[in-house]
Amino acid sequence: MMGRQTADQRRLFYEFHLEDRVPGNHLLRRINGFVAAALSDLHSELASYYSHTGRPSIDPELMIRMLIVGYTYGIRSERQLCEEVSLNLAYRWFCRLDLEDEVPDHSTFSKNRHGRFRDSDILRHLFERIVMACVVAGLVRGEGFSVDASVMEADASRYHGLTPDEIDWSKTAKPSRAVREYLEALGEAGDLEPGRKPPKVISRSDPASAWTAKANKRVQFGYGLNYLIDNEHAVIVDVEATPARTYDEVASTRVMIRRTAERVGLKPKRLAADTAYGTGKFLGWLRDEDIEPHIPVWDRSRREDGTFSRGDFAYDVDRDLYVCPNGKLLRSTGRLHSDGTYRYIASKRDCDACPFKPKCCRKQPVRRVLRDPNETARDYARRLAETEAFEQSSRERKKVEMRFAHLKTHHGFERMRLRGLSGARDEFHLAAIVQNLKTMAMRLTKPPATAVA
Ligand code: SF4
Repeated sequence: MMGRQTADQRRLFYEFHLEDRVPGNHLLRRINGFVAAALSDLHSELASYYSHTGRPSIDPELMIRMLIVGYTYGIRSERQLCEEVSLNLAYRWFCRLDLEDEVPDHSTFSKNRHGRFRDSDILRHLFERIVMACVVAGLVRGEGFSVDASVMEADASRYHGLTPDEIDWSKTAKPSRAVREYLEALGEAGDLEPGRKPPKVISRSDPASAWTAKANKRVQFGYGLNYLIDNEHAVIVDVEATPARTYDEVASTRVMIRRTAERVGLKPKRLAADTAYGTGKFLGWLRDEDIEPHIPVWDRSRREDGTFSRGDFAYDVDRDLYVCPNGKLLRSTGRLHSDGTYRYIASKRDCDACPFKPKCCRKQPVRRVLRDPNETARDYARRLAETEAFEQSSRERKKVEMRFAHLKTHHGFERMRLRGLSGARDEFHLAAIVQNLKTMAMRLTKPPATAVA
């Protein structure tokens, strides 16, 4: 017999407990305990940012819980998030709202989120508390770390890029937060480091983002999402926002490794990364920090035209010279040149009389070999690249790439919603918080055999 829905929706009284409506295996229920513990000191942490007088703001715990819901389920529009929290029982329960409690309207939510709350750096505090909880729970081993960066498209039109001299910032009547932050950072940064060029194109609406075509994507403005993960369970031990430029991404790794040592007390024995991180400077820094670089060396010395590459010349450490394939010596004056290398030069008399000259320096009178000041560290990384431990690290490094893939496919995170480096920082911290919470739920909680209806 065909059934018919006959229930009356106009009942006056109900027996209803929100607590009973959220299944035991619901993700929000499984992460709730960890969030509650991490937020236990929230109000005291934020006390100095809020006035004791005036209208009360939205409770910061409610804001953080709503943001966690948003970044867990890919609801990053503030308007949509407020609507969804109002309608969804599980979201209400997680946000500690009862059935009749008012959900903040999106404009109030937005005003609170981008005011004192954003200045407070509370998301960084929350992130570190969650990392510490992972450490205490044994999810972080602290031996092997991996680092990588992924480009996130900025909230800036790729069709409206301008050269820096086309923009006169002094004529901007009411600069946005992103522009103010950019101009302040420019003022503090001073001159560019040697070897760095100023950007060719910048965005008027989000000038801190970088004009990039990385990862074989179309050219766009973007930020680099930098993750440092522990290889054991892919817990994100640090996160950093940078413009989407390789130089900044590699530089941020030093910041993350030092900060993880200071704040969490963890320093890896080895670091895995892709070739972009295999520069002499970075490998030299890792050697000084006593961290094994499981990183392919960035090497442009290999020649593909059949002539001798630098690898065909043997370096003699004791005498600080190279020995060429003909057994002759290439010496250096010891001067570091403007391109950041030492030059080792053969004798003209040796090269003139050499039978290998066509295969060595056909067009030049003598052969020169360039040496990076960190060549010893590069050689060390090359030797490590032949070990089984390196192979293992290369496999484990995929976990950080999987983090980015999950973020894009399961959390709908491909484009920034907030502008400026501080906006990218907020969004990336939320992403990392949510991904770590999911790892904790998966590794530390067991869903009950039967779910509550
Ligand atoms: S050309 Fe000069 S540097 Fe090259 S192999 Fe001969 S002697 Fe050595």
